[in-house]
Amino acid sequence: MRPVPYIDIHTHSTRFTKDTVTVQNIFPGEGFAPFSGRNFYSVGLHPWHISTEEENNEALQMVEEALEFDHVIFVGEAGLDKRSETNFAEQQRVFKAQAFMAEEYQYPLLIHCVKAYNEVFELRRKMQPAMPWILHSYSGGLEITEQLLKFKFLFSFGSLLFNQNAKVLETFKWLPLDKIFFETDELEEHVSVVYKRGAELRGLSADALREVVWKNFNRIERTLVDRT
Ligand SMILES: [Zn+2]
Repeated sequence: MRPVPYIDIHTHSTRFTKDTVTVQNIFPGEGFAPFSGRNFYSVGLHPWHISTEEENNEALQMVEEALEFDHVIFVGEAGLDKRSETNFAEQQRVFKAQAFMAEEYQYPLLIHCVKAYNEVFELRRKMQPAMPWILHSYSGGLEITEQLLKFKFLFSFGSLLFNQNAKVLETFKWLPLDKIFFETDELEEHVSVVYKRGAELRGLSADALREVVWKNFNRIERTLVDRT
């Protein structure tokens, strides 16, 4: 039996391999390839790219237009980044707009979050959206993760899993398996390398982990199917 595909839930790479379903991130206005069955996209206004209100509104409009393409499956990456130089109040306005957009059109939201888990948590708590919110390159410790779990957040892990000292290793080992995804983001590696590391940390085979993440992805897909 052929193993289920790997899922690379967040990547900036255009490399595709047959055994992998990718969700490549693009920014508003960027072009993307026709659908080949495995290449999905996320489109969003990144907190690093916040500019004037007027320009941001134009970019948000482009995000909305990109959602018309069937293989654009997430809004994102969108989010909050307190380490970025861009205006934080405007980051919040733009993030909120995309969170509402995701909810209105029924897309999962892929989130870039640096030093702002509390703000993202508060927004979800207040909004109570039905759509899944995925925190990419997740780095949170156990305490905040427990809070986030109560509000049904999902978590994607990448290069941080290779950092021996990262507090997120503890979180990763503790999380229920149905909440996790893997990503390469900026990594110049195939996502199988991250699966392998994840399997090691969880004491599972890489194949078992493939099954788990495949199911997790299909659970989000079902949300997408419900839209039609
Ligand atoms: Zn990214």
